Amino acid sequence: MLPERFVQRVLRDLGASEGRALCEALDTPSPVAVRLHPDKTGLSVRTDATVGTETPVAAGIPTPDAFCGAVATLPDLTFDRSVPWSPWGWYLAQRPSFTLDTDFHAGAYYVQEPSSQFVGHLLQNVPTAGARILDLCAAPGGKTTLYASLVGADGLVVANEIDRRRAAVLADNVRKWGMGNTIVTVGEPRPLGDCKAFFDVVAVDAPCSGEGMFRKDIDSRAEWSENNVHQCARRQDEILREAWRALRVGGTLIYSTCTFNREEDEGSLERMLAWAGDEVVSSNEVAIGEDWGIVCGEVGPFRTYRFYPHRACGEGFFAAVARKAERMDNASRSRLPKSQSKLRRSVVAPVDRAAGVEAARWVTEPDRMEFVSIADTVYGWYGAQAEAVRMLSERLPVIYSGVAMGQLFKGRLKPDPALAFFTGLNRAALPVAELDAEQALRYLRRQDVAADAFAEGMNLVCARGRALGFAKRIGIRVNNLYPNSLRILN
Ligand code: SAM
Repeated sequence: MLPERFVQRVLRDLGASEGRALCEALDTPSPVAVRLHPDKTGLSVRTDATVGTETPVAAGIPTPDAFCGAVATLPDLTFDRSVPWSPWGWYLAQRPSFTLDTDFHAGAYYVQEPSSQFVGHLLQNVPTAGARILDLCAAPGGKTTLYASLVGADGLVVANEIDRRRAAVLADNVRKWGMGNTIVTVGEPRPLGDCKAFFDVVAVDAPCSGEGMFRKDIDSRAEWSENNVHQCARRQDEILREAWRALRVGGTLIYSTCTFNREEDEGSLERMLAWAGDEVVSSNEVAIGEDWGIVCGEVGPFRTYRFYPHRACGEGFFAAVARKAERMDNASRSRLPKSQSKLRRSVVAPVDRAAGVEAARWVTEPDRMEFVSIADTVYGWYGAQAEAVRMLSERLPVIYSGVAMGQLFKGRLKPDPALAFFTGLNRAALPVAELDAEQALRYLRRQDVAADAFAEGMNLVCARGRALGFAKRIGIRVNNLYPNSLRILN
């Protein structure tokens, strides 16, 4: 049953017929959709855009042929049609057992409900390649991984999550997506607000009362209350203040919730406009298909987009976008300012020359990367991340950055499981063991696998050409190095 007060409000706000249609839609099955990993499915679209160019760059829309080629490489999924507002999104005809699909474990796609994929569309006219994006409320990482694909290796995504346990899941998803351009931080938004004007895009996917989840997650109905709506609205106000501080002039703010009520949606924007005033200006219009079922609106300079499940094929969702006004005197990004509070001790150390040479062997673009050591693990960072990781780690806990490459033993790298997922892994660095579906599932369960596909020593384990992890053959035995924390449980 839907909460009674919710139903009353919806009937009052939307009118009887529209309100009833919404309530009925919340009792129908949710569509299932995935977002393909462009670099792992051959959909990769590179643009030459650099941040700061005047010309808006259209998001790289793959051609229909590229789409068909990509989905053909994912035979365990039954594709229905593409998600119209997402260049990498596909509806599935039915929900498969993702657990039994090796491509799921390889990070070839992310299971993401379709409405949420719309945030990428909002950046259609923004030069994202090479941009710095802050995803302030990021776990479990659906939107973070989307932003990571948009900004590419020259860009940077800082994904923050306040809840430690959820942040660990976020870091797992970032590792599996494997772009090597994402930093995961844990904490309140304030230290990120203190990175004044550092980011080109700040996304607030706000904690909310979750009315849009009433269909997908039946338990969320029991957790809903009017009091919680007020509490969420207050929290959203605080988060938006920090988000605004973190955004550079000319930068783009995306605000989203998965709830329908005005107080947390338009209301949050109105309250923000009361203090931010004319610093907020409209962003360029984005194209919206008439048959997408999205209800478009405006709150001052904010353009707003609402997804009702009886109109659009996705869960309930609200998104808004605006820009921070350009000022003639200062239209650029800042460097990260010195922290006012006591700095955290940096745990980052440089690696010695020999270690750098060994690490470089494992990646396709070593000249673009810097290798450092954190605790006893070697990490690889692209140039765009190095400064940011150092400065952020002085302000709040950084639990993952770039790509974890592994540990050095007697000058040789024992690869970290994350390195297998990394899109910049140099496959020539070690033999590749290509497994069939049955052996691959045994590997993912951490069971014994037949040795014949493996060369002596360390191997990259693949299924359908996509990397799953590492294993070491010693004589007739194969040491399965798939992490216990990721293994498929029977
Ligand atoms: N963006 C995520 C995605 O696409 O996968 C979903 C984010 S979820 C809607 C909101 C997140 O905000 C939750 O993970 C929640 O723990 C976090 N959160 C809660 N309170 C917060 C706060 N005060 N500041 C920042 N994040 C908060």
